Amino acid sequence: MHSTRQWPKLAAMETAALLGSDPAQGLTHREAESRMKKYGPNQLKEAKQASLLLVFLSQFKDMMVGILIVATIISFFLGEYLDAIAILAIMFLNGILGFIQEVRAERSLQALKSLASPMTKVVREGKQQIIPASQLVPGDLVLIEAGDRVPADLRLIQANRLEVEESALTGESVPVSKTDKSLVTAASADQIPLGDQHNMAFMGTLVSGGTGKGVVVKTGMITEIGKIAHLINEAEQSTTPLQHRLEQMGKILIVVAVCLTAVVIWAGVMHGHDLMTMFLAGVSLAVAAIPEGLPAIVTIALALGVQRMIRRNALVRKLPSVETLGCASVICSDKTGTLTQNKMTVTQASIGGVRYDVTGNGYDPTGQILVENKPVDPSKNESLRLLLHIAERCNNAQLVREEQKQRKLLVLASFQESWSIIGDPTEGALLVLAAKGFAGMKRPQAGQAARIDELPFDSDRKMMSVVDCTPDKKLTLYTKGATEALLARCSKIHWRGEVQPLTSQLREQVLFHAEQMAKQALRVLGFAYKPLIGYKPGMAALQLENDLVFVGMAGMIDPPRAEVKDAIYQCRQAGIKTVMITGDHKITAEAIGRQIGLLTHEGGVLEGRDLSQMSDEELCRSVEKASVYARVSPEHKLRIVRAMQQNGHVVAMTGDGVNDAPAIKLADIGIAMGITGTDVTKEASDLVLRDDNFSTIVSAVEEGRNIYDNIRKFIRYLLASNVGEILVMFFAMMMGLPLPLVPIQILWVNLVTDGLPAMALGVDTAESNIMEQNPRKKTENIFGRGLGWKIISRGFLIGAMTLAAFWLTLRENPDDLVHAQTVSFATLVLAQLIHVFDCRSERSVFHRNPFGNMYLIWAVLSSLVLMIGVIYLKPMQEIFTTTGLSFRDWALVFVAAGVPTFVAGIGGALKK
Ligand code: ATP
Repeated sequence: MHSTRQWPKLAAMETAALLGSDPAQGLTHREAESRMKKYGPNQLKEAKQASLLLVFLSQFKDMMVGILIVATIISFFLGEYLDAIAILAIMFLNGILGFIQEVRAERSLQALKSLASPMTKVVREGKQQIIPASQLVPGDLVLIEAGDRVPADLRLIQANRLEVEESALTGESVPVSKTDKSLVTAASADQIPLGDQHNMAFMGTLVSGGTGKGVVVKTGMITEIGKIAHLINEAEQSTTPLQHRLEQMGKILIVVAVCLTAVVIWAGVMHGHDLMTMFLAGVSLAVAAIPEGLPAIVTIALALGVQRMIRRNALVRKLPSVETLGCASVICSDKTGTLTQNKMTVTQASIGGVRYDVTGNGYDPTGQILVENKPVDPSKNESLRLLLHIAERCNNAQLVREEQKQRKLLVLASFQESWSIIGDPTEGALLVLAAKGFAGMKRPQAGQAARIDELPFDSDRKMMSVVDCTPDKKLTLYTKGATEALLARCSKIHWRGEVQPLTSQLREQVLFHAEQMAKQALRVLGFAYKPLIGYKPGMAALQLENDLVFVGMAGMIDPPRAEVKDAIYQCRQAGIKTVMITGDHKITAEAIGRQIGLLTHEGGVLEGRDLSQMSDEELCRSVEKASVYARVSPEHKLRIVRAMQQNGHVVAMTGDGVNDAPAIKLADIGIAMGITGTDVTKEASDLVLRDDNFSTIVSAVEEGRNIYDNIRKFIRYLLASNVGEILVMFFAMMMGLPLPLVPIQILWVNLVTDGLPAMALGVDTAESNIMEQNPRKKTENIFGRGLGWKIISRGFLIGAMTLAAFWLTLRENPDDLVHAQTVSFATLVLAQLIHVFDCRSERSVFHRNPFGNMYLIWAVLSSLVLMIGVIYLKPMQEIFTTTGLSFRDWALVFVAAGVPTFVAGIGGALKK
């Protein structure tokens, strides 16, 4: 609809008017809703999903099914109709199970995708709010800043040093400067190359610096990116290394199965069995040996595990990281917001060597500024007034008051006031401070000055400035930032009512007061200004932020999150080292580190400038000792990760700013903040914390370990079952015995009764000691830590006991082969159903409550019922060649089936 408009050539206000939008207030909610109905969501169409029918059919395309189909056809031609039909039915049932698993896994991954969809800052009815980018409509007023991905095609109506990297669209990776001015050119807008449309920001491109405001002109598929890419395939790597290894293992097992089958068939024929029976037995065995259920169960275990993580607020963006999570040996965490609450309140200030105390709670602007317990009036204290003024002007946050109606009695309603902020909490706290100081004060000049430029905060400079212009055209630069960084740019200071040169003595004094505040775990910010002469738009920070007049400092508390101390303790138990990496001051960081139990001994704190002086080798040694890194810039993070990885650590690293993206990418598990994180860091990350909380990382690690353990559990179960099935047949043939199981029984056990318990193991709960063990090595083989031995030994015992039960029954009654085969069938099934409980523990069956996994109980019960049906129902007896068993038979079956698990279990329990 808007594609023919000449947006770039129109004036900003004209664009807004044409789109029926107000450049200050944005759209109304009602208008946005009606436009949503008209234009649809702001989304790029995705590739069509495979239809359910195709998913179902895909269950029948693997090798095992091929073997079975050949077997069915041969049975059919040999007149074994019943066998042929039974094989088909079993295959169908197995297909349905696989189908259900795959659809469930697909659904949960789909849900994950929608959760990970980007959010955007929009102004509607004059209020800033954060909404999913898909909800944007033409006419919406959008705010963008460094680190954001542009959410729709925008005509910019404000651009503060805005730079956008448009390689997604133009292939040009050098960021382009943007403006809000209309383009003056003779060409029609359609002919201006996208790269030259400097007052437009296009969907999918990246804001690499500055801030801006724009009106949405196009959404969804009609945006420039929508036009060229009918499909943006964000498909992340969706198979994990483990899945890949298991696939390869599957191939090896096929070869083993075929060889074993050949031997069994040969031995059977040598001992006088007829060829057809041996062929079918061979095919069934081959099917038994191939763990065909494995890939599907691994997928579902991963998918459901990932869902559990979502419930614990950890969003997995890249599936392979689920495996790596369980190996994490170091977690490097940001301080602000992750270890602390990011709810800042200024409690102290220091101006001209005088200490000020600030009362009040949270963002509620009722409170006072006191000196020696007496309120101070800023109108009589020029330095304080100036500090508050800078705090207010050099600020992009908004203080929001909300009234909540509270009904106490039926009629009486009272209003409860609550205050929150939109924007950076550090700046929010400063707004609150200014509101407290200026309360009740007449301020003629406030609000009259206009901001004409901004040098946005970045964590390398550690400061932020604005240029204000008064109505009489006087320009002033206001700057706030980390005290020592700011002092380095000051030449004068407001000291006891007058401006003096900043001598080294005064500098020392200021730093001393800053340190006093930092020791109380306060984050300290300094404030400065200078009258600007010779200002030109676009001047660099270095040119502007110098020769400043230092005014004073404010110290704010940011309490640690309540749950963090426990989470750090838990990490220690789990052999994981926690490290705090912060841009904040060393002493503040150290004080917080002690409060949360991260620093338990002296030392262990390194500063960014220490790191800059260290060689890579020195750093490798130092990272082993340090637990807190202060005044760190993003590039230091990269070196820290590299050094830790060189020392053999598996590193999880958090970050929120644009510049953190490289470190997040390099880390084994890159973690982005869901609330404060930029789109760029989120896109570089493996895991997003929806609540920005450190303890969520610990939960994710725990889930990661659990998912891996669960995968080990069902691999152990399925493979031990397969080994048992093969060995019973193999030994029988070698000993010249009749077939202990008929082919259809083997198929049934392997394809039907095995599947459900294995799935239930895939969603098992974690063992109680899961966070009391050291992280596993990244290179550990899935069969490591004794799993291979367990599979072979338990499989051997299951096979041997089944054969023993068969042999004993047959010896008593040599003419009734069907009876003996039914006993071995029941023994095999039951032995597996008991063994499944053993698989729940790395230690022994006695270490876990058998009723701890109700899915497993239901799965085992259904498998039991199915088995009883096969043994006792007349029509089933015919198909499966079974017969009813006596009480004595069952006694034998139970004893033989229990031996593999309980004998081994007692052995295991004694060892641990
Ligand atoms: P982390 O989340 O890594 O713990 P941080 O929030 O403590 O980081 P930065 O955001 O890099 O670290 O801030 C570093 C320093 O910059 C702060 O200690 C503070 O002095 C200063 N600072 C922070 N926010 C602002 C801001 N909005 N304006 C000016 N200076 C700021």
